[in-house]
Amino acid sequence: MTDIQTKLLVLGAGPAGYTAAIYAARAALEPVLIEGLQPGGQLTITTDVENWPGDTSVLGPDLMVRMADQARHVGVELIADIATAVDLSRRPFAVTLDSGTRYLADTLVIATGAQARWLGLPSETRFRGFGVSACATCDGFFFRGRTVAVVGGGNTAVEEALFLTNFAAKVYLIHRRDTLRADRTNQSRLAANPKIEMIWNAEVIMVAGTDMPLGVTGVDVADTTTGATRHLALDGLFVAIGHVPATALFANALKMDDEGYILTAPDSTATSMPGVFAAGDVRDKIFRQAVTAAGMGCMAALEAERFLAHDGLAEPVNALHAHG
Ligand code: NAP
Repeated sequence: MTDIQTKLLVLGAGPAGYTAAIYAARAALEPVLIEGLQPGGQLTITTDVENWPGDTSVLGPDLMVRMADQARHVGVELIADIATAVDLSRRPFAVTLDSGTRYLADTLVIATGAQARWLGLPSETRFRGFGVSACATCDGFFFRGRTVAVVGGGNTAVEEALFLTNFAAKVYLIHRRDTLRADRTNQSRLAANPKIEMIWNAEVIMVAGTDMPLGVTGVDVADTTTGATRHLALDGLFVAIGHVPATALFANALKMDDEGYILTAPDSTATSMPGVFAAGDVRDKIFRQAVTAAGMGCMAALEAERFLAHDGLAEPVNALHAHG
């Protein structure tokens, strides 16, 4: 096993990870960034981004390539590998990669992000990418004039349903309860859209489709109050039931909330372990924006720099307050 020493290791290559690494490189910390499974993160599966300051419109994948280029330009070492084990009980922290390389890091920035949550049905897995999607912006275009359904009752589900009406002839919104979690503005837009039909108190229990070619033909839904089932004929199913943070590697090592998001101190990216900082969707289930993730990446780098300047001896005061 090869051991490599570094002052600052960043896990994750989304806006939070790249920004942390760029700031750290400019502070002469010679950071190493482990890119993980999906370099570029969730923005690589979007199309136009129109709320990134400075760009009227930019393609998500292009924006992420530019962030990677900037990171390289300022001297960040980008490693195309996946962290498979983390030991925070020792110093320096140890992070083992899939290749067998082990990094020994004085400080760690966790920016591993979050992934779409799935229903967990075998039939859903079978048709994923063939009519079942978790990204209307990526795949809505393929359903021009077709009938689709969105599952979920939050802002994402409603926004996906509204977006899909740009292409689809009809959009069902299937929600397991009889009230939506989405905000009033989204609910008003939903109610005003004649292409959308609500299916209340309903759970998708099976995705039906064909083998040749592989594709969705409908779903079976069960009424959550009566148990009665019905079939909806569909060409596509969009699952929008929230996200799951990528924090499995840190279970039992860092304080997290009951959904697995890493807890940080107020106004800080400091986690419950001094020297470990968390930025972006891995610790944020509220805003989930590229620009907020980037902001937190900047904070993490500045806080890591401050931590190192005190020889790693000073415990962040806020972290103690936040975690008791
Ligand atoms: P969310 O608010 O957590 O909503 C998830 C929805 O999926 C809920 O309605 C939930 O049902 C449903 N759900 C969860 N697990 C399910 C399952 N196994 N089967 C069926 N349904 C299931 O997630 P989100 O919509 O992705 O939004 C995440 C955060 O980002 C929220 O804070 C949201 O406000 C924010 N956001 C804001 C905007 C905006 O402001 N424009 C846009 C997008 C997202 P229940 O309601 O029954 O729990």
